Amino acid sequence: MRSETLVSEGVNDDVALTTQRVKVHIRCRKCGETFILRGVRDARGHIETGFKRCLCDNEDDFEIESLG
Ligand SMILES: [Zn+2]
Repeated sequence: MRSETLVSEGVNDDVALTTQRVKVHIRCRKCGETFILRGVRDARGHIETGFKRCLCDNEDDFEIESLG
């Protein structure tokens, strides 16, 4: 007995319509450290990476660039 009913990949396609996974390049303006993270861009263009702070304790002085 074979079942072909498990073709359920893509269940999360609804999420893909409203958010977009992007690579994000972050550079600390204080110490110059750079980070490449994976982030999610929502429908408003806001990119969420979960990035909190740099190694040098800088929390808000960054250059942030999405790499598509
Ligand atoms: Zn830093």
